[in-house]
Amino acid sequence: MDFELSEDQRAFADTARQFAQTELAPHAAEWDRDAVFPRDAIRRAGELGFCGLYAPESAGGLALPRLDATLVFEELAAVDPSTTAFITIHNMATWMLGTWATDAVRAEWGEALTSGEKLASYCLTEPGAGSDAASLKTRAELVGNEYIINGSKAFISGAGATDVLVLMARSGDAQSGASGISAFAVPAQAQGVSYGKKEEKMGWNSQPTRVINFDNVRIPAHNLLGREGEGFKIAMKGLDGGRINIATCSVGAAQGALTQAQQYMQERKQFGKPIASFQALQFKLADMATELVAARQMVRLAASKLDAGARDASTYCAMAKRFATDAGFNVCNDALQLHGGYGYLNDFPLERLMRDARVHQILEGTNEIMRVIIARRMLDGDAPEVIR
Ligand SMILES: Cc1cc2nc3c(=O)[nH]c(=O)nc-3n(C[C@H](O)[C@H](O)[C@H](O)COP(=O)(O)OP(=O)(O)OC[C@H]3O[C@@H](n4cnc5c(N)ncnc54)[C@H](O)[C@@H]3O)c2cc1C
Repeated sequence: MDFELSEDQRAFADTARQFAQTELAPHAAEWDRDAVFPRDAIRRAGELGFCGLYAPESAGGLALPRLDATLVFEELAAVDPSTTAFITIHNMATWMLGTWATDAVRAEWGEALTSGEKLASYCLTEPGAGSDAASLKTRAELVGNEYIINGSKAFISGAGATDVLVLMARSGDAQSGASGISAFAVPAQAQGVSYGKKEEKMGWNSQPTRVINFDNVRIPAHNLLGREGEGFKIAMKGLDGGRINIATCSVGAAQGALTQAQQYMQERKQFGKPIASFQALQFKLADMATELVAARQMVRLAASKLDAGARDASTYCAMAKRFATDAGFNVCNDALQLHGGYGYLNDFPLERLMRDARVHQILEGTNEIMRVIIARRMLDGDAPEVIR
């Protein structure tokens, strides 16, 4: 077991750190304040391969291990968790399309997506189907050589700014549950696709979130990903990696906040000395660093399980997502506290990092649902997983 990064891995992280410093850091506060989607910066991220980090080579991706992808995402998220989180969702949807699309669809979208020229959204949640995603109602009916899609998706990241929608819809009958769901690649501007207003949010302001409506949208039958009825499985496989990515965005945000706090404590003086000299605050800093390192190691463990195709990988992805997004939010919040009133001002990045990190506890499966997944697998009657 080697906990050190290889030379290549350090090089990925260095490249990402430089990109974050030059392309994201100078603008992140403005993108947050004005709710600007940084399309050009994402395109430049694509030029470095960051839009197809683990997508298959057959789709123009780098096919990197998930663990290596986390090194890139962590560096980007340390300065801009919101934009980074969108890039991770794009990577997830691109990997799904690259892995399960027909050759024709992969040829049409693969390289455009992995290069960042085109962008993808992941469309699972509906107004009435959130945590219970398998109860989704959006219909996809096969008529001749086409699927006709009707229904609505809610909370879709990037919606209105993306080019292709990786959509989960019901192709089986209404009672078919998870096994009646199929996955599709739907052009975002297809006739009958319409978008709701841009949601106003607490954080994640550099990426739009919208409802998407599908009204008799016709797509070629070959836009099916995988086989009919495999859509929920594909969606969950996407989310295993997605959860590592979102957990990584929390680790990155926490690292950004911790670094700021560490520096600020040594500069800020009260009672005639740096606030870093107060042991109560030293202990706080020590706890923040400890939680952060534990979160990072857990995310890397889950990523390496996924890379190895381990049977318990999904459980570890859920554990890493639960732990790292809670720890990440707490570290950001504590770093804000260590800044006193200045932490509450948007002159400093702390309040933005905290607002952005908050939603990581909610999406890609809430942290309550992560506990449901972990406990279910540990208590599974046929083959309970033993965690050691
Ligand atoms: C900014 C943002 C971006 C998003 N982007 C996307 C996207 O790109 N694509 C996409 O498909 N979705 C996206 N989502 C949706 C997100 O995944 C859902 O909001 C999330 O899964 C929760 O669903 P819900 O909001 O309907 O909450 P609900 O499912 O209604 O849950 C409400 C509360 O009940 C709890 N709860 C529910 N069931 C249980 C249970 N069995 N046991 C214990 N507690 C339970 C939940 O944890 C939560 O606290 C996004 C959400 C947000 C806020």
